[in-house]
Amino acid sequence: MKRNRIYAVVCIICFIFIIVCLLLPNTITSLINIISPKDIKWASKTIINPYQEIDFNTAEFIPGISHEHCTSQKKLENAYNRGIRFFAITNYQPSAPNYPLTGYNSPYEDWSDSKADKLITRYNVGSYKDFIDVLGNQVRIRDLLGAPNAEKTLFIGSETHISQPGSTYGSANHQPPLGGIPSTHKNLINWRKAFPLPYQNIDAFIFNAKRCMILNDGGLLIINHSYNISELKKWINLGCEGMEIYNNYYDELINKRFQKAWDTLLTEGYRLWGFAVVDWEEVRQPIKGCNLIVGNMKGFTKEQKELQCLRAYKRGQFFASWYGRMRVQELSSNNVIGKVVFKLLYPAKILAKTNNREITFESTNTAEVNLLNDESYIRFEATDGLDYLWTNPMFIEQ
Ligand SMILES: [Zn+2]
Repeated sequence: MKRNRIYAVVCIICFIFIIVCLLLPNTITSLINIISPKDIKWASKTIINPYQEIDFNTAEFIPGISHEHCTSQKKLENAYNRGIRFFAITNYQPSAPNYPLTGYNSPYEDWSDSKADKLITRYNVGSYKDFIDVLGNQVRIRDLLGAPNAEKTLFIGSETHISQPGSTYGSANHQPPLGGIPSTHKNLINWRKAFPLPYQNIDAFIFNAKRCMILNDGGLLIINHSYNISELKKWINLGCEGMEIYNNYYDELINKRFQKAWDTLLTEGYRLWGFAVVDWEEVRQPIKGCNLIVGNMKGFTKEQKELQCLRAYKRGQFFASWYGRMRVQELSSNNVIGKVVFKLLYPAKILAKTNNREITFESTNTAEVNLLNDESYIRFEATDGLDYLWTNPMFIEQ
């Protein structure tokens, strides 16, 4: 009887010992969390901040377009008077690069040419004239910053439209995948012989658009006005590096969907920059949409500035914006403690967004966020009641 009692006591002690062993690691973790909060692992993480190398004290802010149809002199002047200073104009039919802005007259292959098997069509690209701006100043077209660009549509098996700032790849009336106007604007290939279907093959487009990029480290392909997640993923996987998060052609509800799609993709680990565009300016008033390029360009020639603007687009060194009037003073990140600071020149309402939370800062010019260990990106939005600005995301490598 006594021996049985000893066995029972030993069993209970063993049971308690096992339970303690099981709970101990959790207890230790909890204690560590109490002693030191969730940023304990920050020393081993990297925040990829696209604005890292920008000196905001000396940086120039250049409002630019990445998707806007300037199909007349008046539209170009309107864009200038709205504040646009970097013109990567997208036109189509034909989707020829509108660059240089002073214009050129180029042969291009049209549908009718292909049927007749001869090249007779010519197209005037650009050829804008000097003008007087709203302030009464003379504006010379040859002084404006610009870059080749075009909008591509009607792909086989995709409803998506693409902008291609930095690429001189052109095609006539949407169709030819291998013909059109290569970077030299010569050596036209009869698209009908090369490719018999009347729409663009996606792979051929990607190949040609990238082949005709004027820079290796500048310019990119941007997905226009889409919130279709599977389409967005398809084009990102093919090499698109940006999407539109604001397009003035669409109403507020649709624009919210673009932004929601952006956050969905960022949460899933896709990395892409958000652009704000006008598209067709006559559709919706007031006219909103530009990309506020930020860069140190002191001492650069006009041509060097154009290339820097394309590099800024590729690197995400710009702010999607309604009017491009808000000024950012700081966007810094601290890898060691996992802290991000966003500072504006004057107070505004600021919203910080990560993959798992939203933090609102009312009427302040500084927003500081201590990142949590499970956060993979952070981006900011800000409004002063008149303008709206989106930063590009910082990515946290786990
Ligand atoms: Zn368009």
